[in-house]
Amino acid sequence: MGKPFLGVQLGSHSVYDEGADHCLDTLQETAGVNAVFVYAQTTHGGFARGRKLSALAHDHGVAPRDPAPREMTRLWFTPHDRYYAGTPVRYDALGEHGELAGSDIFAELQEPCRKRGIGLYARILEGFSKDLVQLVPNWTRLLTVDVYGRITQLPCWNNPGYRAWWVSTVEDLFKSYPLDGYKWGSERSGPLSNTLFGAARGGIAPTCFCEHCLARARTKGIDAERARLGYQHLFEMMSGLAGGGAAPHDGILIGLLRLLLKYPEILAWEAMFHESREAVARLQYGAIKQIKPEAQVGWHVYHHVSWDPFYRAEMDYAEIAEYSDWIKPVVYHDVAGPRIRRHIFETHARFGRELSEEQLLGVLYATMGYDPKREPTLGQLDKKGLSPEYVYRETKRCVDAVAGRAAVYAGVGFDIPWMEEHFPSAPETTYKATVRAFEAGASGLVISREYDEMRLDNLKAVGRAVKDAWKG
Ligand SMILES: [Zn+2]
Repeated sequence: MGKPFLGVQLGSHSVYDEGADHCLDTLQETAGVNAVFVYAQTTHGGFARGRKLSALAHDHGVAPRDPAPREMTRLWFTPHDRYYAGTPVRYDALGEHGELAGSDIFAELQEPCRKRGIGLYARILEGFSKDLVQLVPNWTRLLTVDVYGRITQLPCWNNPGYRAWWVSTVEDLFKSYPLDGYKWGSERSGPLSNTLFGAARGGIAPTCFCEHCLARARTKGIDAERARLGYQHLFEMMSGLAGGGAAPHDGILIGLLRLLLKYPEILAWEAMFHESREAVARLQYGAIKQIKPEAQVGWHVYHHVSWDPFYRAEMDYAEIAEYSDWIKPVVYHDVAGPRIRRHIFETHARFGRELSEEQLLGVLYATMGYDPKREPTLGQLDKKGLSPEYVYRETKRCVDAVAGRAAVYAGVGFDIPWMEEHFPSAPETTYKATVRAFEAGASGLVISREYDEMRLDNLKAVGRAVKDAWKG
């Protein structure tokens, strides 16, 4: 009966702001943390995710600094050019600018982690920051193409240069540093979810129709032109509805179904998007295992899995277990409240207009398996998080699906800001959520979202819950 895996997401800047010893001691003394997940690079925007000083924890013993005026580096390790021959993209330009440029975070943490018995994991969120096109030479060569043939902001999974960049990155990381593991995540949905739910805020036309995606479609026997036409119709229908336009004459849902029946390629293209993203995860998993078989590789699962039915259907944990040592389902109970509220609002503005927002929430709870008696009402969602039962159900769903083939580290999250505002978590709820994650069969935690947001009372609540609930 060993200790459970107790990882925490630790922003690289915090290591310098508070000092490595201070961070690690705090995490070990409060929550009994035995692994840290630290950003190797922050091409997703990282630190600059619209956070306010008031949303950060003020009880760490080192006063937090106001994030607003800080322009941080996006590169936290020292890249080695020899690993990047197969991709047009280099990290060098990212490492030239910003506060803490030139940092070598894994070298910095190696000894402090080793002497405390804390595992050192590299963490990356796939990059979708708008300014990468300004910061990184050749970035435009990786980008997706929309239904209108225009290059857009996000890179394409099927672009050989983008795929190679990820393999190069993990090769560099695992040959250059004594890492214990790796966590990678991608926080973007496919074209169908984006169009239906407005996850891309409705303004971004569906992607990707680049030459590499067209080639992949050909090998799968999917008619790319019909997929493109179908998505163009769907996008224009949803944009019209979001702008207050009239419903199709047979109604919105029937109009949507008619479009899907006429253009089944819409679904095929969404499935291809998912497979292409997971192919990049598989490549990284395999590459790391070739270099360091004992490294523990796993994935951050985008929170949308808790409410978007298409994303949930795609993220089949049983299948993902094939290329995972562990999986972190995101079960951020508190911020799930306002996030679901926004999802309901955006659904109602588009294809869900025929139902009331209350009805849409009822459908969501019923189909996702959340107990409406325990979870917030529509009016409460903005201010009240989901219950520890939500954490239990989402964790158990993952545990049952992987059936022992991968470890499940529940992503229990607290004190996560919402719309730049402080969204404080109650330690008692954090305690219960953590207990329920273990009762659901989790073999560990990835405590989330960022160390610099976590108040000590909540970290201590996690520590208490582990003592009470971990049965080995
Ligand atoms: Zn593409």
